[in-house]
Amino acid sequence: MKYKNEMTMIVKSLSENESFVRSSVAAFCLPLNPTIDEITEIKTAVSEAVTNCVVHAYPNTVGDIVIKVKITEKDVKISVSDRGVGIDNLEKAIEPFFTTKPEEDRSGMGFTVIESFMDSFKLERNKGAGVTVHMTKHIGEKNIQMVGEENAWAR
Ligand code: ATP
Ligand code: MG
Repeated sequence: MKYKNEMTMIVKSLSENESFVRSSVAAFCLPLNPTIDEITEIKTAVSEAVTNCVVHAYPNTVGDIVIKVKITEKDVKISVSDRGVGIDNLEKAIEPFFTTKPEEDRSGMGFTVIESFMDSFKLERNKGAGVTVHMTKHIGEKNIQMVGEENAWAR
């Protein structure tokens, strides 16, 4: 696929970087002319993936989080990657309400939120260490449908 634009960010796994990454990715997606809902969904999904790296990937230490964003005219593709402790059972990790940190008031809903807000979602084990969350979203679907509905009323 030919991308119109792409960027890579590398940040430390510090909680203050979560809002910086979320806002930066949202700003980068603006040329696709997303709706407020679409941008909120992208921000939330990115926030969940980055927060997971901060909370789970590097216990008692700080490591790198790599965020890659690629856009076409209508699609955004995002990956969030770490080189941390990794996940033994990927299928279990993405189940709703599964968490390894119930004592820290985690609800185990991060991956479920990502899955519901994005069009595709995949969790992958990295060679060597850590995991990568891949996600894509198509922008503009709802706008097209609305125009269609308006035309239907006009007929
Ligand atoms: P919530 O996101 O609702 O606060 P949570 O982070 O526990 O809770 P998920 O985001 O769904 O829930 O993640 C499920 C589990 O997958 C986590 O509890 C953790 O064990 C594991 N996990 C998620 N991301 C990573 C990561 N980057 N590195 C290591 N383990 C991870
Ligand atoms: Mg989480």
